[in-house]
Amino acid sequence: MTAALPCDAELLFVEAVSTGTVHIAVRYRAYHLADDDVTEVIKGGSSFVALAISPTTTRCGKRTFPQFERDHIKTARFNDDQLCRACYRTLHPDDQERAFEHDVPEPTTPAPAAG
Ligand SMILES: [Zn+2]
Repeated sequence: MTAALPCDAELLFVEAVSTGTVHIAVRYRAYHLADDDVTEVIKGGSSFVALAISPTTTRCGKRTFPQFERDHIKTARFNDDQLCRACYRTLHPDDQERAFEHDVPEPTTPAPAAG
């Protein structure tokens, strides 16, 4: 059973440039991650490096490094049909509508006039 995301978790959209598929990653607020293991790493002195190179793992299990790669870019503007279905299916039903809270590109065909 998929758990609903914490309300302060943020959905990230990561577009695979080669395919145009937009994967979903979830970024949690820092305090969700602030456990003793992290503290130990910080004491070790390499925390900043570890954090800087930690990959973004998408919901479907893809590991990306959007801050370094040119193959995967963070995006906020894409068509719904670009959304990775494997990622989408991992979301709790209450969260799935959040996957559609994004901008869409300018339509290539004019929409019929309303009215
Ligand atoms: Zn995916």
